[in-house]
Formats: sequence, structure tokens, C-alpha cells
Amino acid sequence: MYPDTQLFIAGSWRPARGGRTLPVINPATEEVIGTVAHAGKDDLDEALEAAAKGFETWKKVAAFDRSKLMRKAADILRSRADTVARLMTLEQGKPLAEAKMETLAAADIIDWFAEEARRAYGRVVPARGEGIYQLVVKEPVGPVAAFTPWNFPINQVVRKLSAAVATGCSIIVKAPEETPASPAELIRAFADAGLPPGVANLVYGVPAEISEYLIPHPVIRKVTFTGSTPVGKHLAALAGQHMKRVTMELGGHAPAIVFDDADVELAAKTLAAAKFRNAGQVCVSPTRFLVQEGLYEPFVQKFTAAAKAVKVGDGLAEGTQMGPLAHDRRVPWIEGLVADARQRGAELHVGGERIGNKGYFYQPTVLTGVSKEARMMNEEPFGPVAMIAPFKDLDEVVTEANRLPFGLAAYAFTRSAKTANAVAAKVETGMMTINHLGLALPEVPFGGVKDSGYGSEGGSEAIEAYLNTKFVTQAGL
Ligand code: NAD
Repeated sequence: MYPDTQLFIAGSWRPARGGRTLPVINPATEEVIGTVAHAGKDDLDEALEAAAKGFETWKKVAAFDRSKLMRKAADILRSRADTVARLMTLEQGKPLAEAKMETLAAADIIDWFAEEARRAYGRVVPARGEGIYQLVVKEPVGPVAAFTPWNFPINQVVRKLSAAVATGCSIIVKAPEETPASPAELIRAFADAGLPPGVANLVYGVPAEISEYLIPHPVIRKVTFTGSTPVGKHLAALAGQHMKRVTMELGGHAPAIVFDDADVELAAKTLAAAKFRNAGQVCVSPTRFLVQEGLYEPFVQKFTAAAKAVKVGDGLAEGTQMGPLAHDRRVPWIEGLVADARQRGAELHVGGERIGNKGYFYQPTVLTGVSKEARMMNEEPFGPVAMIAPFKDLDEVVTEANRLPFGLAAYAFTRSAKTANAVAAKVETGMMTINHLGLALPEVPFGGVKDSGYGSEGGSEAIEAYLNTKFVTQAGL
């Protein structure tokens, strides 16, 4: 059974004051499966008041106790993983196994931040004068406004929520209206673990109305957003006008570089798995496949075979490897990108069509000969589309990798340590994974450069983003 999702404000689950709701659609069937409460200004005011009070309470709780509560929340989430994963597949479309993995990974992320909570140390800086102590003290930044998208309904929330709760902040999460029930279960795990009222609040509604109300509000001290670059720039500008701390995890257009000395079998298999995971709706999804001339033909052949073998279907069906696109806006978007590339002379190796006329299914698609002027070579595709192109040497491929304003993730395959070092140094990216898929673990940084945003949602950097630094210098009397 899929629930009607409510708001969570000041420790209570409740409908919006105005009684408004939005429908939730299963992207595999296009059926309305439930509703989500649509917050108005009254609800946001209550959430702000709750977050202000929640912060006053929570910042006084010892890091040791915050950590214990978080571990309990992680265990609760783990124990409910089967139920939560099912909700996620129903609302988002991804295969059940991926939804379960995301839920269990979220529990691990909570555990990791729970440990970091106890280690958010300051430091003592040696003084120039006798009897003086110079202390660097870390304090929670305050109530946070978080905006998260539908591609990883839980994962996008849990990194922000866990960092806030670990550091003693409170948070208002504006979770995705398309996929509301699974992030609500994440919040429920924290509530059931005993999180005091107001520390975590959950709202849904019209994204622009909510962000324009919350970001300038004096209660909010930090803004964190995951989503597209244009929206991120808009929200960062708004936060800048009000001098709020910001973390921006935005779009990407990841180069996947395969050198002549790579293990082509491994490269094709690994990159195809990365490309079609979550139907390509992943900010770090490889998009521009750049293959050195010696391996170009075998790579295209092996990658195309891997794309053909992907089993597309309802995420709840046994054996499904790729589900539908997550909502109705995605299919026309991908169709537009593919039509534009083909008009400019691209060659289609597999895919290129919507599947059926019910559900937002699109075929795994491989194109070669895509013009650099084509939209898909410049705009984030965010779908199951791979563009493969040959290159001659390191300089040429680095120029292509750095051509776009994005700089989130990059992939490389080579057996040469020299080439690996060179490509890691020269590609402008926040994250680089070489000869395997190694991104997004809780203990390592996660974030981009250039138009892909700033700040990190993993590693110790992720905790730092929720802390203010206070300097205290004290002389003995
Ligand atoms: P979109 O740009 O309308 O929305 C992207 C996300 O931003 C959604 O979650 C939406 O609710 C939110 N959003 C939009 N306007 C907002 C505002 N003014 N204030 C606060 N939140 C706002 O597009 P979409 O069709 O939902 O997704 C398409 C694009 O979004 C993709 O092509 C991709 O570039 C990007 N996206 C990125 C990620 C990521 O993980 N970085 C995730 C989802 C979507």
C-alpha cells in the first residue's frame, strides 16, 4: 500500500493547513498512487518557528548523545528497508534492488555522520604571549533549509539531514513532490529514534515558492540544494543577497575516458553499469564516452552489446535492471536531445525510442558521431543516453573533458600509472574514479567545481559545512 504523505512539523505528522494536496504518480504505470500534502505560507511559518525552537534544544545536546540517537535512527531505517524500498520503487521507478541498496546505504551514511558528530573538534593555536590561549571553537551553523530532488529520494536527503543533526543544527527539508513517501520514512526513522520536535521538519509544495520564502527568512542560516545548475545559480544568488552559507550539488556532464592501454572488457562493462543505473538520472552519470583510437571500435561494440542486454521494466518486476524515467517531463526531454543529435548527423547504435505508450520508459541508447554543437554534448542529458567519440592523445581528450562549464565527476581507464596521474591532475572535476566505480561513499568527499557547484556532501568536509568557526583568545589574569 502506498501512503498519502503528510508534512512533519514540530514533531507531528499532519496535512497542510490549507488542506491542499498534489497527486503522486507511479512512473511505470502513470497511475495516481497517492497524494502529498502541499504546504502553504502558514505551514512554512510553523516549520520556521519549530526549526528555531528545535535548534535551541538540539544545540545543547551533547555530541555523544546526538551520535547515539543517530545510530538508533540508522538501525530503525535498516529494519524497515524492505518496506521503504518498495515505496521508493513505486514512486520513483528504479529497480527494487537499487531502492533497497539506497535505503541501506542511507543507514550507513547516518552511522558515519554519527561517528563524525563526536569528532567535530576545534583546535588550540599556540600563542605569541605567555598565558594566552587561542581557541578555535566549532559551533552549529543554525537552522538549515534543504532542497532535494527525486533521483535518489532518500540519499539526497540523508546527507544533508545527517550532517545537520550530527552538528547540532535543525533543518527544514523540502523533499521532492514526485517521490515523497520514501524520504518521509527517513524522517520517520529519526522521529521514532527520539529526535526532539522541531529538529527535523519536512515540507512539500511548489519548490520556487518554498525556496523564495525560506532562504531569505532570518531564522534560516544555511541553504543546501541538489538539482540542476540553472536552479542552483538562482538559489545561490538569493542566498548571497541574504549572506547565507550555501552548499550546491548541481548538474554534471561526466567524461568517461578510455585509453588505448585499458582493459576494454572491464571499461565497457563497468561504464555500462554506471550509465544505465537509475536510467542515467544520476548527477555523476558518465555521459561523454571518449575512447582512444586503438580501442574505439571494440569499445563501441562491447558497450552497445551491454546496452542491448539491459532488461528494462517495472522496478517491482523480477530481473528488471532499468526502470522508467522518473516523471512525465523526462521523456520529451530525452526525445528532444536524441532528435537534435540525429538531425546533426549522429549515428544510432541501439535505442533511441520511447518504449510502449504507458509508463515513462525509454530505451538504453548509444550514439556515435554526435556533433559537439548538439544539445546533448552541452546540456546535462540526465537519462539513459551514451555518446561515444574517439580521441588521439591526452591533450586532445583533456581539452574535450574540460570544454564544458561542468566539473562534477570524471571516469578514466588505463593500465599506466603515468597516464592515470596525468588525467587526474588535468581534468577539471570534483571527483575522478580510475579503473573502477568508487564515488559516493560516506567517508569520501562528494561535490563539484565550476558550474557543478561548491561544497561537499561526504567526508569530513561535509560536517565542516554545517559548522561556524569561532575564535576565542583568552589571557590569564
Ligand atoms: P528542475 O530543474 O525543474 O528540478 C530539479 C530539482 O530542483 C527538483 O527537485 C525541483 O523540485 C527542484 N527545484 C526546481 N526549481 C526550484 C526552486 N526554484 N527552488 C527550489 N527547488 C527547485 O528539473 P527536473 O525536470 O525535475 O530535473 C531536470 C534536471 O534537474 C536534470 O536535467 C538535472 O540536470 C537536474 N537534476 C539534478 C540532480 C542531481 O542529483 N544533481 C537531481 C535531479 C535533477
